[in-house]
Amino acid sequence: MARGQVIIIGGGISGLSAAFDLAKAGVPHTLIEKQPRLGGVIETRRWDDCLLECGPDSFISAKPEAMSLIRELGLAGEVIGSKDDERVTYIQHHGKLVRLPEGTTMFVPTRPSSMLASPLVSWGTKVRMGLELLRGPKTYPDRSVSEFVTDHFGRETLDYLAEPLLSGVYGGDPDQLSAGSVLPRFVEIERKNGSLGRTLIRTHATRNGPLFRALKGGLGCLIERLAAKANVVHGAAEAIERRGDSFRVRVNGDWSDADHVVLACPAWAAAELLAGVDGRLAVLLGMIPYTSSAIAQMVFRASEFDGQRAGTGFLIPRVERRRLMACTFVGTKFPHRVPADKITLRCFFGGAGNEAVLDESDEELIAVAREELRAIIGLTAAPIFANISRWPRSMAQYIVGHGARLQEIESRALALPGLHLAGNAFRGIGIPDCIRTGREAADRIIAS
Ligand SMILES: Cc1cc2nc3c(=O)[nH]c(=O)nc-3n(C[C@H](O)[C@H](O)[C@H](O)COP(=O)(O)OP(=O)(O)OC[C@H]3O[C@@H](n4cnc5c(N)ncnc54)[C@H](O)[C@@H]3O)c2cc1C
Repeated sequence: MARGQVIIIGGGISGLSAAFDLAKAGVPHTLIEKQPRLGGVIETRRWDDCLLECGPDSFISAKPEAMSLIRELGLAGEVIGSKDDERVTYIQHHGKLVRLPEGTTMFVPTRPSSMLASPLVSWGTKVRMGLELLRGPKTYPDRSVSEFVTDHFGRETLDYLAEPLLSGVYGGDPDQLSAGSVLPRFVEIERKNGSLGRTLIRTHATRNGPLFRALKGGLGCLIERLAAKANVVHGAAEAIERRGDSFRVRVNGDWSDADHVVLACPAWAAAELLAGVDGRLAVLLGMIPYTSSAIAQMVFRASEFDGQRAGTGFLIPRVERRRLMACTFVGTKFPHRVPADKITLRCFFGGAGNEAVLDESDEELIAVAREELRAIIGLTAAPIFANISRWPRSMAQYIVGHGARLQEIESRALALPGLHLAGNAFRGIGIPDCIRTGREAADRIIAS
């Protein structure tokens, strides 16, 4: 392996973003990726004339970091927005699919008339939602998402709105997830204004543009562009040692020296690598749990599709879930990805406590997905193509106490000049957050 002044470990979006800025600034770097493929959980495949996103399918528009990078890479013309006007999400409620009331921001109702008309929650919960408008500001110690949501809107809102919606993002357990880390904006509103409903009703009309964005050719295009700028070596980083003010990293048995190391791999992998550098830091990183998931994508002939066409897709709340967590109708969300004569469904499995799903064979998972789709939307047609993607230990969980742990992690990392942490384990798991962590690491290196 070529000697690099900077070694980046992990070739997902975080590591590639760091490599991009270093390359731009002319700083020599080597990016180590243990898989033969770059991109980490971002993977775009094509089958026939269908575009299949095997991991993430889009990024949130409200955070600017993904768009900035896309512009810098000359990909702005490739950006497409989610069709929010046509966005209809269903939630399973007592075995039937019920429309998510319009104007619901996460689990917060911002259009009272549509929530009042919805059968998704009972009248008792609707009254509770009304009373929430009267709440005054209050500060709480970090508490779970379950406690936070139940306190504001009651248990039914947790079960039928917050839990299924958050499962889609974190694959996590709301009893464990930290409100302060997962819902920082809402906790801030609680502290400053009290009522989430009152605040969001006031600000709801101000959003411009689509909620989510993606690339016409898939997020894989972003990876390809970034990869072209990075100096990549495929191999597994096995250990890191501190040598005076610098480091050495063992990759496939060979040691290389580095003034800076960017750990852009999952926190559990960083923990293993850092055990000999700072044992306490390794323990703290290892305490960040991760969940695993699997996505089964199936393509059907539109002419044979005999199931309910459930808008952009549906979510199954934990209280009603058997195996399937959620299902997206890809062509409704992003029409460019599916031709008119086909329908692609993306079925999500796994999440907290359901990791065993990854051990099942492709055939077993497809059979489970088909059985679930038969029960929920009455689909009996056979897919003409199916693809399973497994993402073991890939989604960091910000559990209660994450904020305090993070402070200790950051102060210990700061005490090791030249060591940089990036990735989804810290301050946001979405693509824009990961890009930010990678680029911030590069900025610090360039500045030094
Ligand atoms: C199924 C799924 C769907 C998602 N959907 C969305 C979405 O729609 N929108 C959104 O914004 N976010 C989404 N996310 C979250 C987001 O995609 C991820 O948080 C982000 O892509 C993680 O990027 P990363 O580079 O930090 O980590 P990863 O993509 O996990 O990359 C880390 C890389 O490090 C490598 N590595 C690990 N150990 C070593 C080692 N010892 N040596 C060398 N290499 C190593 C791994 O092989 C991997 O390639 C989703 C995540 C998943 C799993």
